[in-house]
Amino acid sequence: MLKTVDYSRATKTRGIAVTYRAGSGEKYATCPADCKMNCSGKGSQKIDAEYLDALLDAVPRRGVSFTYSHFEWHQWANRLADGKTVINYSTESLTKAAAASRAVPTVVVVSESDWGESKTMRAPLFGRTDSRGNFVQSDSVRVVRCPAEYRAGFSCADCGNGEPLCARRDRDFIVGFSAHGPSKKKAADPETRGGCYADAGNCRIWWDDTANGEQCETDAEKVKRFAQSLPPGSIVRHHVAGDIGAE
Ligand code: SF4
Ligand code: SF4
Repeated sequence: MLKTVDYSRATKTRGIAVTYRAGSGEKYATCPADCKMNCSGKGSQKIDAEYLDALLDAVPRRGVSFTYSHFEWHQWANRLADGKTVINYSTESLTKAAAASRAVPTVVVVSESDWGESKTMRAPLFGRTDSRGNFVQSDSVRVVRCPAEYRAGFSCADCGNGEPLCARRDRDFIVGFSAHGPSKKKAADPETRGGCYADAGNCRIWWDDTANGEQCETDAEKVKRFAQSLPPGSIVRHHVAGDIGAE
């Protein structure tokens, strides 16, 4: 099931087009069952190939299209290409994020307190164990905090001067988000299951609504039709909630 919104009024996505994705009657059905944030006991074991094809092509004319996935990046990385939707690999571990960022655009969720007063941090990349058994880091990747988190009234529509950070496929930095909402402690802890950001607040209402809706076409058909219907130059953020899994 796919819900489409031409003009988002949510704080972070105000002014851009967004979608929500869910299974019929089960909102977690398109999320990877092993997503660290998913503690529903439900979820998908494989990528929906038809939806992935359509998603990659669902770019508005002369516009920008991006999204995120918790499916392991090596399952879809070879599908990224110029002119296609940019898929960001989502993780909650700085070390995982650093390694993945060498192959795919990557985002990471951290605890808000980790930023301190800074808008950037470093994610450890490569390392070795010295003769005393201590881990010695040998490189790192810059993590740039999502500007919508600290600039009032700022949304994806304002990000990157028309080239939103999350829509840049070839970038040498990771985009960092702070865990928020009632489960933020779980969300920021890579070792604790749960913390899905989409299962709280307004996002949850929209996501529940998506799962309980009616639809007479596949998600692939709908996302294609939606992208084609948007005005030239539009920005679209696909499946704010949900993922690329098959029900
Ligand atoms: S919406 Fe995203 S973060 Fe939440 S369970 Fe699904 S894939 Fe994981
Ligand atoms: S970094 Fe930019 S594009 Fe990504 S979520 Fe934040 S505002 Fe949106």
